Amino acid sequence: MGIKVERIEKDIETINAFTHTPGQGITRFTFSEEYIKAREYVVEELHRMGARVSTCRGGNLRGRLEGRDALGPSVMTGSHIDSVFQGGRFDGVAGVVCALEVGRVLSEERQEHRHPIDLVVFAEEEGSRFGSIMIGSRAWIGKLGEEDLARIKDREGISYLQAMEGSGLKIDDRKLLKPGDVKAMIELHIEQSVVLDSGGFQIGVVEGINGIKQFLVSLRGVANHAGATPMALRHDALQGAARIMSAVEHVAAREPGGNTVATVGFVHCEPGQANVIPGKVEFTVDIRDLDPKRLDQAASRISEEIRKTCTERGLTFEITPRSDTPPVALSRDIVTVIEEAAAARKIRYLKMPSGALHDSSILPEITEVGMIFVPSKEGRSHCPEEFTEIDDLAAGAEILLDSVTKLAL
Ligand SMILES: [Zn+2]
Repeated sequence: MGIKVERIEKDIETINAFTHTPGQGITRFTFSEEYIKAREYVVEELHRMGARVSTCRGGNLRGRLEGRDALGPSVMTGSHIDSVFQGGRFDGVAGVVCALEVGRVLSEERQEHRHPIDLVVFAEEEGSRFGSIMIGSRAWIGKLGEEDLARIKDREGISYLQAMEGSGLKIDDRKLLKPGDVKAMIELHIEQSVVLDSGGFQIGVVEGINGIKQFLVSLRGVANHAGATPMALRHDALQGAARIMSAVEHVAAREPGGNTVATVGFVHCEPGQANVIPGKVEFTVDIRDLDPKRLDQAASRISEEIRKTCTERGLTFEITPRSDTPPVALSRDIVTVIEEAAAARKIRYLKMPSGALHDSSILPEITEVGMIFVPSKEGRSHCPEEFTEIDDLAAGAEILLDSVTKLAL
């Protein structure tokens, strides 16, 4: 009775047998041949457990286990099976196989539940094929319409709709997911970072998804001869940028609360020659935090550093916002449900934010959302080395089972 590790292992093996780059990681782009084969396996498993299977708006897959209350809102769980180019075996797949196992246990134990339980696979989460992330979930809740899906194209110019039709998928449920349709959504996902693995935690209870503020900073100084210009008379844009970059790390590290992260990931220097003082530098600043106030504070401290440094060094600057995504708070009630399940099973867990975006960042618009993280070995993800211990996955599946059961009562 209960969760069976061998079945979870078999699901992972079978789904990951479908990759476009065998021996070099998992490449399974949305609606590709490999994707459709992996999806067919999930459909077979859903049929076998007696779920009612539909292809929903946006190409999302849903297997429904009916509850006593056929018309009531559902409890939803699942994730995605599309991947990045040469990615890992667990990103997305972990949440799908744990959802399948939860469904199998519920149906074989004939557990009574009032709410229908929906086991789902969201289409195109990664954006690897169509360059835009979370297309399936956004289409399902009406954030993207048919005209958008006809407009969004892959590198070969094939639109999302054409690719979906070409793969043989037919939508049999065109209804939008609206508030009131879903009582709760829980996604299990790999952490994709080092926090759980390095701290020896088996489960992460996700409290929210980090907001992102990203901007491009452009500094202008005076390009001049590296030999003939005395140090005191320079307006070196790169030296200014270097001070600001070190302040970026400093501001994030000293932010109280401890979860702020800030990164300079792109730098461009002109003219970019060994014997010329840099006259122009551009770099990005990316700041993330779960708390909107701390996020704003970090951004304004960094802007203040930019202003101060430029004044001191006779540089001019421009700050161009690139993205401003507010943090997403997940459901406190579901956090409690997951915590209680972990405590009852004596599993060591940590409450934490998610640093990456997931379909679960989209769904709070229509329902209560929770997420369960399982550890990623050494934090590796989006690469062939991505790994999660089967025992950790099984622990995650057990917590998912307990939580779904409780929410669907
Ligand atoms: Zn993912």
